[in-house]
Amino acid sequence: MKTGQINVQTENIFPIIKKFLYSDHEIFLRELVSNAVDASQKLKFFSSNGEFKGELGDLKVEVLLNKEEGTLTIRDHGIGMTEEEIDKYINQIAFSGAEEFVKQYEGKEGAEQIIGHFGLGFYSAFMVAEKVQIKSRSRHDGAVAVQWESNGSPEYSIVEIEKDTRGTDIVLFINEESKEFLDKPRVQGILDKYCKFLPVPVFFGDKTEYQDDPNGEQDENGKTKRVAVEVPNQVNNVAPAWTKAPVDLKPEDYTSFYRELYPTTMEEPLFHIHLNVDYPFNLTGILYFPKIAENVEVQRNKINLYSNQVFITDSVEEIVPEFLTLLHGVIDSPDIPLNVSRSYLQSDGNVKKISTHITKKVADKLAAMFKNDRKDFESKWEDLKIFVQYGTLSDDKFAEKSEKFTLVKNTKGEFATIEEYKSKIEVLQKDKDEKLVILYTNNPEEQFGFVKKANDRGYDVLHLDGPLAPHWIAKMEQSNENVQFARVDADTLDKLIQKDEEIPSKLTQEDEDKLKPMFENVVNKEKFTVQFESMNADDAPVIITQPEFIRRMMEQQRMGGGGYMAAFPEMHNLVVNSNHDKVNAILNTKTKKSQERKIKQLTDIALLSQGMLKGEELNKFIERSIELI
Ligand code: ADP
Repeated sequence: MKTGQINVQTENIFPIIKKFLYSDHEIFLRELVSNAVDASQKLKFFSSNGEFKGELGDLKVEVLLNKEEGTLTIRDHGIGMTEEEIDKYINQIAFSGAEEFVKQYEGKEGAEQIIGHFGLGFYSAFMVAEKVQIKSRSRHDGAVAVQWESNGSPEYSIVEIEKDTRGTDIVLFINEESKEFLDKPRVQGILDKYCKFLPVPVFFGDKTEYQDDPNGEQDENGKTKRVAVEVPNQVNNVAPAWTKAPVDLKPEDYTSFYRELYPTTMEEPLFHIHLNVDYPFNLTGILYFPKIAENVEVQRNKINLYSNQVFITDSVEEIVPEFLTLLHGVIDSPDIPLNVSRSYLQSDGNVKKISTHITKKVADKLAAMFKNDRKDFESKWEDLKIFVQYGTLSDDKFAEKSEKFTLVKNTKGEFATIEEYKSKIEVLQKDKDEKLVILYTNNPEEQFGFVKKANDRGYDVLHLDGPLAPHWIAKMEQSNENVQFARVDADTLDKLIQKDEEIPSKLTQEDEDKLKPMFENVVNKEKFTVQFESMNADDAPVIITQPEFIRRMMEQQRMGGGGYMAAFPEMHNLVVNSNHDKVNAILNTKTKKSQERKIKQLTDIALLSQGMLKGEELNKFIERSIELI
């Protein structure tokens, strides 16, 4: 037996390794299993280039749990290491790498995250083990097997051992605080998370499978009995869909891969994009468009980032633009530097290129879908809407492209692009200043009367709803000159789309001056501004509107923007139609009491049609209406 001392500059990095990585201890297993996978792949490579002439055999990696001895072993049949190689790779290179790493990040903020991505390689074993053995037999003919051992101090020993098989066992004697890693479900969970798509088969324990009875025994229905058999439990799918060429995949392969990624999600994805880049950086992956619900937050952060099929993280915010985090799926790139801080990642040139590329791909895919099958695209629009609007609002490049496939839908369910829609309403909905007025409703049910009046006049009304609609509208007004959006109940139609011709009023100024205070008496003056408008005789006698700008202010306030407007009062207009017979009739009504009654009734009807008549006032209105019958 030989003993030695790892050449340490830092006093002792082992306690630091142990303490430091507290939250991410579980990644030791990812590090060791990926080393085992690497060793297996290297052997395959040496075999293919003729350097290795022996039998490859079964290149599986096994994770073995031994509760009695308190060990967890990672076994491979890969290239193995000679004594010299252990000395070089483990005692020197790997150690100095780990040491440098610890020195660099010790005590720094956010270090856990960095390490979580990076991993300390072999030495992360000491986060969970009080003693680690490497038992290895190199691939070379007649190689002598050796065992390296260290108890987490810089001293190590190395002895010759008997080992029949080629490859390496890493044996971890799990320490007292880390007993959880001797728990089968816990280990299975970690393997599922990090190793699910590694390129070499990884086995852990057995699992029960139901198979036809090998003895051919039949049940009472004459069918071959199914029997439970224990079979080796393979943890991973060595060739996940994203590593294959799109031409080799059928649509159902994409769907079943989605199931593999998100076994608990019931929803089917809408469609997918297969990413495949090899210049100027390497990137593969599949992104899925989920059906996006109103509550977008729950669906975020489902993209998994892999590096050569090793799971790294599911927080990809710094790699893809924020709006793309609504997508699901996998990105695999060995070119994304993982050993750096988040802020550095964002400014990294490669990462920027990746992000731009993905955005472009996504926009191109949507554009192609729109072009190839517009009907189908329209049928998916409700699910795509939030995503496209989000992208348009947050990413200028995407906004440029999305112009072509962004749809609007009117209250009759007809779709149009913005350009198409502009020409559709060009004749009727241009006001006297040549401004194109786009009328919309966020709730066709509640604003039914307003929508109908607009339609009766030949105007079209869009149905724009969803959490992003107000922001998206503002953005459209910015990017489309001479276009103004107005909700149908923002004003009277004549005011919303002002034309040159004016309808003469049947009321004189004197009449209006008389009526105005009477209306003001029946409503809360702080909340309503009474005004007269000469509308058509068949328009409603009184309507309640809310100016567009006030409503937008209120909306912003609700969304938490613009603190200084915190006390912005909720204002409405009470618009009296000076050409309506019932309004004129008030002037000819004899008693003051009966005048007041009529005004109250007209006003209440207006409030009612906006859903604003509630509680006691509603009850009074109902009683009064019954009396009138
Ligand atoms: P990295 O894998 O990033 O190089 P590690 O600290 O994980 O760093 O491992 C250091 C080196 O030890 C590896 O590069 C490899 O040469 C060697 N090594 C580790 N595990 C194995 C193994 N299971 N089989 C063969 N060589 C290994």
